[in-house]
Amino acid sequence: MREGFQYIDLTASCRGFQIFFTRPFYPETMDQISAGIRYRLDLSDTKNRQIGVEMQVERQGNEPLDLVMPQLSPGSPTNSLNQPARLNSLSACDGAGQAVELKKTEAGHWRVEAESCGPIIVRYRVKADEFSHVRSYLSDKISYVNGPSALMFVQGRQHEPGLVELRGYPSAEWKTSSTLESVPGHPELFYASSYDDIADSNVLAGKFQQVSARQGGTLLQINQNGTPPWKDLKVNGATPEQSLEDLQQLYATFTKEFGEFPRQRREDAGPLPARLAGQDDKYVVTKHYLHGQGPNAGGYEHYHGHELLLHKAAQAGIERRFDGDGRAHERHIMAHELMHKLLAKFVRHEGIDSADLSHVHCSDGLWLSEGGVEWAAMELQRKSGQMSEAQYIKMLQDQFRGYQAAYAQDPSNARENSLDAHLGNSGFYNKGAVTCALLDLEIKAATGGEKGMFDVLRCMKDEFGGRDHFWSVQDVERLALRTAAGSQRVAAFFQDYLYDHKPFDFDGILAQAGMRWQERGDRFSAGELQLSGGQLLTSDARAEVKCGPGGALAPAAGSLALPAFGVTLAQDNQGALKLSAVSAGGSGAAAGLGAYVGQPARLIEAASTSLKLEVQAPDPFTGELEKREVEVSARPARQAFLEEAPGASPQAVALRQAWLS
Ligand SMILES: [Zn+2]
Repeated sequence: MREGFQYIDLTASCRGFQIFFTRPFYPETMDQISAGIRYRLDLSDTKNRQIGVEMQVERQGNEPLDLVMPQLSPGSPTNSLNQPARLNSLSACDGAGQAVELKKTEAGHWRVEAESCGPIIVRYRVKADEFSHVRSYLSDKISYVNGPSALMFVQGRQHEPGLVELRGYPSAEWKTSSTLESVPGHPELFYASSYDDIADSNVLAGKFQQVSARQGGTLLQINQNGTPPWKDLKVNGATPEQSLEDLQQLYATFTKEFGEFPRQRREDAGPLPARLAGQDDKYVVTKHYLHGQGPNAGGYEHYHGHELLLHKAAQAGIERRFDGDGRAHERHIMAHELMHKLLAKFVRHEGIDSADLSHVHCSDGLWLSEGGVEWAAMELQRKSGQMSEAQYIKMLQDQFRGYQAAYAQDPSNARENSLDAHLGNSGFYNKGAVTCALLDLEIKAATGGEKGMFDVLRCMKDEFGGRDHFWSVQDVERLALRTAAGSQRVAAFFQDYLYDHKPFDFDGILAQAGMRWQERGDRFSAGELQLSGGQLLTSDARAEVKCGPGGALAPAAGSLALPAFGVTLAQDNQGALKLSAVSAGGSGAAAGLGAYVGQPARLIEAASTSLKLEVQAPDPFTGELEKREVEVSARPARQAFLEEAPGASPQAVALRQAWLS
């Protein structure tokens, strides 16, 4: 029995949260689990959308405590948007219930000094009315506690274990799930080896679907919150069972490529309490289907799982990038977030992956920890049999085109974009992915196809994994050179494309693998869309509208890409036409159509040189629908393609195979 175990009635001098004090301070199970910091979260106030937090901190004597509300969530390049201002009713008392003063020392920092010895109990309420990477969410259907947005830490004691307990569910039907360690027989309790784990966690409670399977020593779990928000997709998302199947394949490939991972992320973590040590490791994926407001980012990573954010607004991207396959879209984000278990969670870069959450930092490492992860996610899917070579080449080709369009506007490298992440520059995703795909090819070229970028990542795992030892670009360069036997080309690659910001010499790099980056005409390809007033027909040379007999053909659902104009039109089976996609860098984007994606459109004219559409969107001041006519000129009849070069040597063909399979 721990020394702190006692019945106390704190209601006399500490306000609020009376629900907590009608039972022993530590229930039996909590008592068997040693933790100097305990959080009790009251989820009953769904009306005001606030989580009640009671944080009990044990002390050796009467030393002061410095409490900090994090200024960022790990992995998020932005700050927490003034999260400390979302707290209210902050108070503290000692173990005898005597109120003690909380002195604010700087934004989000408080000092507690009490003359008495023993525990300090801090209470506050935190707003939970936004679902995001830096906020928590509470409604009468679901509660999502994002660790760093709700729970304070004690400066200097971040490495101590903590216990999180949930109370006050609005419904008896609520169940729980978390990336934190579960406590057997106590679904309301979760254990964290350190604040690092809390900052890297979610705690989900409410009504949701759940399926799971064991794979080796790991429990793989899928939670599904809500239903798919998309309409008329070829594949409307994945069921929990399908997602579990996809996760099983990806997890098997991931551990085959990168080996097993320790159950505790930090090498210096203390042993797990005996009651928890015998459990399986776990990887928990929660799919959140978002029908309206809210973040439209793809996901948030954790060491023991991730969130998938599947937003209605992703529809156009799913149609464009995944050919309307919602399950492939989910799988891609799943692979990306799973790669973060290695890069960002186990192997860290100082800055946004760092353990110091009290201040915002810049990072030049996002080119690898986001862009490299994006590339590696494609590799994982390919190696898992979830993506064909043709799909892979098409994705690479899209990334190369995106790179060229972005570079034309801002001739910077992916590392430079990383440093601007806090300003909203997210160019490091695509530029970093292209950088890693080409670096992989260079390393393979230098080693006869034997080694590649995955070998560099394996070296990083060995050298930096689980430690407060942050990698730098020089470390990646050193390991890449070691992997590539000191190749001059690899050294020049780092110099030109990561230190300097020269544009990629696609042809020079690709030629080694018998491939080329070839510009040629692809303004139109044959297709048709059956509209209510006629037919939109495209051939190799032009687009035209043909009126049917009487102008009254039955409309049919479908979509048609018009690359010459950089737009895709889609129609549902009621005959409602909309602008479903606008490609970055295309003529439609230049004409301002990007703001109308997903909105209704009317086709006025289509020809080989121009397209005229009537589009509409809400007026920002009145909210009323405003119609506008936009004319788009066809772009020059050239576009670049990633393709095999004729007459490649057998050596180049062998390298191509090593690069693409
Ligand atoms: Zn990411």
